[in-house]
Amino acid sequence: MDKDQYRPETNAVRIQTERTWQMEHSTPLFLTSSFTYDSAEEMRATFADETDNNIYSRFSNPNVDEFVQKVCSLEKAEAGYATASGMSAIFASFMALMNAGDHLISASSIFGSTHTIITKFLPKWGIEYSYFDINAPESIEALIKPNTKMIFVETPSNPGLEIIDISIIAAIANKHNIILNVDNCFASPVLQRPIEDGAHIVTHSATKWMDGQGRVMGGVVVGRKDLIKEIHTFCRSTGPAMSPFNAWVLSKSLETLHIRMERHSQSALTLAKALEGNPLLQWVKYPMLESHPQHHIAKKQMSGGGGIVCFELKGGLQSGIRFLDSLKMLSLTANLGDSRSIASHPSSTTHAKLTDEERKKVGITPGLIRISVGLENVQDILEDIQQALENSK
Ligand SMILES: *Cc1c(COP(=O)(O)O)cnc(C)c1O
Repeated sequence: MDKDQYRPETNAVRIQTERTWQMEHSTPLFLTSSFTYDSAEEMRATFADETDNNIYSRFSNPNVDEFVQKVCSLEKAEAGYATASGMSAIFASFMALMNAGDHLISASSIFGSTHTIITKFLPKWGIEYSYFDINAPESIEALIKPNTKMIFVETPSNPGLEIIDISIIAAIANKHNIILNVDNCFASPVLQRPIEDGAHIVTHSATKWMDGQGRVMGGVVVGRKDLIKEIHTFCRSTGPAMSPFNAWVLSKSLETLHIRMERHSQSALTLAKALEGNPLLQWVKYPMLESHPQHHIAKKQMSGGGGIVCFELKGGLQSGIRFLDSLKMLSLTANLGDSRSIASHPSSTTHAKLTDEERKKVGITPGLIRISVGLENVQDILEDIQQALENSK
């Protein structure tokens, strides 16, 4: 079917693999490593790229294709490739599109493992990088060099919820013929479509809001056809393919992505407003609060604030630990974007190994709490947070 036949919510439900002779209604699970041919000629033609037939599930698989088609439709992208995790999607986008001697410019507020790839591994293969402050996008132009190949940003950023104007970065990238790569994990294509704002490729951890129920890992890169072709060629040989089972789960999840993101955003805003002004908190951060420093950008490029709310406990590190210990319902876990609400305290967990100075640089303060707002009744979420705040004093 035409992946853009209907409105986005409908495409997310109705894009489906071709019905088999069993006349199933729901997409079956194609758990198969390889695919067969009726003749030597058909096999030859398929290997010569003269047909669209599948060959081997490392290259393509019907369940994975269905998932990719849906994400392409939601992101308004020409093409895509799905991977085993968000990190393999980001890694493949770097490795396939940059060569030794190239230069990457990235915002410094990015996911921890992305930071590790950029600072620890890319230099090993002769790819240099420069970081810029996401709050000072005008500083990018001064960093551009003749060998700058890609600009990478994550907006809103994890966990600081910092926001950058994608259209401004896209204008800079286009002026200098640089690829703009946006990690759109936090907003999801329901709330933000970077390609419409000028990005060339978009990367996702499908593990988060796309699955939305904390079950499977996945990643996907979508964007301009010629760039995705390079990524596909790289992945075909190196093997970070998404499993058909995970693709089947994730494709089903996309059917409910719109209604879930609407509810996550609505509950997160209710929670953020209820917590703003709480005397135990130094500040509350949420893209759709007027007090958010980049609220004007959020309003322009996002149709909702997403499911993450952050706040800073006045009591700092020790209060953060007491807050986590006092929660009765919210889960303490590393994931986000789940139907179940999750609390995390970066200073004592994900970012504990960094020095205070390094943490400050990436926007992590001692009492920073990140809440991934789930699908429970928002009053239950709020009451659990409020009682834990009282006990964190
Ligand atoms: C989780 C996450 C990733 C990595 O995705 P995995 O599926 O865990 O590999 C990348 N970017 C952001 C913003 C994330 O939150």
